[in-house]
Amino acid sequence: MTVRTHFLKLNTNKNFEIIDITSKINELIDIETGLISIFSKHSTSAIVVNENEAGLLGDLEFTLDNLIPNKFSYNHDRIDNNAHSHLKSFLLSSSECLPIKNNKLDLGTWQSVFFIELDGPRSNRTITLTIIGE
Ligand code: ZN
Repeated sequence: MTVRTHFLKLNTNKNFEIIDITSKINELIDIETGLISIFSKHSTSAIVVNENEAGLLGDLEFTLDNLIPNKFSYNHDRIDNNAHSHLKSFLLSSSECLPIKNNKLDLGTWQSVFFIELDGPRSNRTITLTIIGE
């Protein structure tokens, strides 16, 4: 059994941005069969699995903005004015644990892995990939 750790670094360009990281992850997978934990080390971002269809990704932004509008006075805004970004991150997830088969992510036909920037633009966003398998 092998355990390996890789770090994926990303720079983001917009306040809200959805970045498909599936191929970047596949390039770093160096075992045939196992599991990979994909973990974002930031509290205003998310890691999710879903379909890479432009209309749907726009719908996600629309839905999050309607659930958590940036027009209220949230408590955390007294500290650094990004409560809405944290709250969206609470509703999503900071990590995914996914199967590896034949040296790549074993995703369904319509699935991709996304990093979601919720408080950009930022430089040096770090995603930790922990791979366990053989
Ligand atoms: Zn904050």
